[in-house]
Amino acid sequence: MPVLQIKDLHVSVETENGTKPILKGVDLTAQDGETHAIMGPNGSGKSTLAYTIAGHPKYHVESGSVTLDGEDLLAMTVDARARAGLFLAMQYPVEIPGVTVTNFLRTAKTAIDGESPAIRHWIKDVKTSMANLRMDPSFAERNVNEGFSGGEKKRHEILQLELLKPRFAILDETDSGLDVDALRIVADGVNRAKASTNLGVLLITHYTRILRYITPDFVHVFVDGRVAEEGGPELAERLENEGYDRFLTATNVG
Ligand code: ADP
Ligand code: MG
Ligand code: MG
Repeated sequence: MPVLQIKDLHVSVETENGTKPILKGVDLTAQDGETHAIMGPNGSGKSTLAYTIAGHPKYHVESGSVTLDGEDLLAMTVDARARAGLFLAMQYPVEIPGVTVTNFLRTAKTAIDGESPAIRHWIKDVKTSMANLRMDPSFAERNVNEGFSGGEKKRHEILQLELLKPRFAILDETDSGLDVDALRIVADGVNRAKASTNLGVLLITHYTRILRYITPDFVHVFVDGRVAEEGGPELAERLENEGYDRFLTATNVG
């Protein structure tokens, strides 16, 4: 059974004033098909976890491990991580000037599968997924993330998720900046991917709102670079009512 395992992960980030420790011993295990919500106040290190797993060069793993099926993800190139079945949707996706959505998707699919997709099926799959996400067909010819609105960026991420069919997806604040209708469309896309491929999901979110549409199996609360509390979906409800106040003492307000 595919399993994403994070063990005692310590990560620091390079800043202008030197190295700053951010993650201070994160442990988390996610099985195939499970949805894990990672919640927590701003600055608690949620995006740092996503960037680290993505292999962003600014984030240094001081100790600990991240494995997929026992394979050391952190030792892999960024491409190899994607081929191993990992998908990352970043909080702030980058623009790729001169590369259209269509070409980007095809190139990514080819790189991940090791062969280019059969053209007829592929075109049909892209059309179907775009329609599911209520995306205008002309969107396919735009350059990746160039001038995309917040909602378009998020839909584009979910379009990739549907078409690339990863085994584990890490979605960082996929809910941010979405109105209720767009949130539903995006959440439906994640749920479709979960149903069709038994996708495992780490759903990073500050707010509980998206968890009304994507039910987590487990909730982990990040505070000051560590998992401060864990539970089931009821923990998200509690956070919805109480916020993060009880986690924020004078020493860890970040
Ligand atoms: P979250 O996603 O939970 O809001 P982040 O992982 O973005 O938290 O940030 C955690 C802490 O690390 C914050 O104090 C933030 O300022 C700091 N940090 C993260 N990335 C960088 C960076 N590239 N340069 C400087 N500080 C950073
Ligand atoms: Mg933040
Ligand atoms: Mg963040």
